[in-house]
Amino acid sequence: MRRFRPNDLSKTSLAALMEYQDDVNACGDFRQRVDRADRLFSQNNRDTNKAFREVRKNLREAVGPSERCAYCEDSEANEVEHVAPKSKFPEISFKWENYAWACSQCNRPKNNSFIILDNNNNEVDLSKMDLASLENKPEGRPLALDPRDEDPMDYLYVDLTTGVIQPQVSLEGIELRRAKYTIELYQLDARTAVRTGRRNAVNSFVERLRRYVDEKNKGTPITYLQHFKSEIQSLPHQTVWEELKRQSQCHTKIKLLFQDAPEALHW
Ligand SMILES: [Zn+2]
Repeated sequence: MRRFRPNDLSKTSLAALMEYQDDVNACGDFRQRVDRADRLFSQNNRDTNKAFREVRKNLREAVGPSERCAYCEDSEANEVEHVAPKSKFPEISFKWENYAWACSQCNRPKNNSFIILDNNNNEVDLSKMDLASLENKPEGRPLALDPRDEDPMDYLYVDLTTGVIQPQVSLEGIELRRAKYTIELYQLDARTAVRTGRRNAVNSFVERLRRYVDEKNKGTPITYLQHFKSEIQSLPHQTVWEELKRQSQCHTKIKLLFQDAPEALHW
């Protein structure tokens, strides 16, 4: 799961989204707002709609050249994902900052559980509330990490041997709970193929870095060496690359590679 920072949307597209949102907000009750948000979103979330064409383009570009899902980083992403689900938050169903770019598996409805922290940091599971209660749901913030607003790497780390995502060992209390819940909600470790993908990614990144160091030590021209950097930036599981850099001092072989190529720590 990656920090997600798409380019800003144009004023024209933001205004179009705001019009849809005003339409939703004008509905009489919560159920009507959810239904209206659903209908408007499925009608307009396509490349033939000028505003959504830009939404989709900016989201796609933000996941990088590999076009992997912002959550699992394994599958190809092709769907606009509501960070806070529109079934629980129709009032922000057309808010630009509530969009990410995900694969179809990660974009499943989060109906089994969606917990917010109220202003006293008490957990409120919105999936257990009926529509009448959701109308007056408490103010609060989602318990899960918001990749548009927070860096998941501050909370999570990748075990480079197993490919498993874990909460940072230094976390405690509510921050540890948020990390665990994020892994659970987005099922970051539920798919064997994704864990395998992370392990394979470790090998792919290290192999390219090793070839880069070999070529660099042979005096290969810098213009050719740049292609290793581009390759590394184009591979899936960029979080694994970030983790390799973060743990570069912990593994002797990786440490030696980065010693020979300290510039790669900034790739
Ligand atoms: Zn995914």
